[in-house]
Amino acid sequence: TYIVNDNCIACKYTDCVEVCPVDCFYEGENMLVIHPDECIDCGVCEPECPADAIRPDTEPDMEKWVEFNRKYSIAW
Ligand code: SF4
Repeated sequence: TYIVNDNCIACKYTDCVEVCPVDCFYEGENMLVIHPDECIDCGVCEPECPADAIRPDTEPDMEKWVEFNRKYSIAW
């Protein structure tokens, strides 16, 4: 899965949301998040992000961000 990190805060671009084929972006409190169970790992959103906020969960120490994205994508 891909997740959004805090580089997203205050970013006004939504190009990532538009390219996602499964619409798994959600609005968190002050940033976008990705539902980690709905993301199909296609990767097309990553290069769209001008803030480098979208990262694969295969990078180190991503557990907290996966849980953060999960929490805010099911909160509403
Ligand atoms: Fe959507 Fe693909 Fe990005 Fe996952 S990797 S959030 S499915 S565009």
